[in-house]
Amino acid sequence: MGQMKDCRVTECRRCPALVDSRSRIVNGTGPGDADLLFVGEGPGANEDEQGEPFVGRSGSVLDDGLRAVGLAREDVRITNCVRCRPPENRDPSADELENCRGYLEREIELLDPEVIVTLGKVPSEHLVERSVAVTKEAGEVEEIRIDATPHRVLLCLHPAATLYDRSQLETFERTLERAADLAGVDGAESGQTRLDGF
Ligand code: URA
Repeated sequence: MGQMKDCRVTECRRCPALVDSRSRIVNGTGPGDADLLFVGEGPGANEDEQGEPFVGRSGSVLDDGLRAVGLAREDVRITNCVRCRPPENRDPSADELENCRGYLEREIELLDPEVIVTLGKVPSEHLVERSVAVTKEAGEVEEIRIDATPHRVLLCLHPAATLYDRSQLETFERTLERAADLAGVDGAESGQTRLDGF
């Protein structure tokens, strides 16, 4: 799996609470030339333990959703707004998000993906810089600029939202279908796509 070495963070002590709560820094994974970049909130316990984003239950939901649109985890890049696990899985604070922002921006700049998919409210609001009602707005695309370069952001539910509320699964899967379409990586030719377009 490509590691895009120059955007790996190997040492950082900007957030005292996260330095205490983390066991390691969790960098993004996936090919350095992926068309799709998924951005989550921050590592949970499993991610902190294994050093990879979305490897717990949320990760299984993401993997299943990707498979449903003919993609595999290995085809996409996955990262988080903050790279260190917050204590008791609380949301990262505004300061923590800001401290980690440069790392995320660098990853976006180096990858320059076709589409950035924000997994949940925190990454959605962090990247589009306004409040987002993610349940309502899932599937919508917005343009952001990082250092004057435009990037497309597709707002998406957090995979875990589908575990708490099964009715959200269809929205989640349709958003992934849209992501694959927008990125031109639709797995239709593999015969695995089972959802209609959004
Ligand atoms: N939730 C996230 O937002 N990120 C992860 O890496 C895992 C779960």
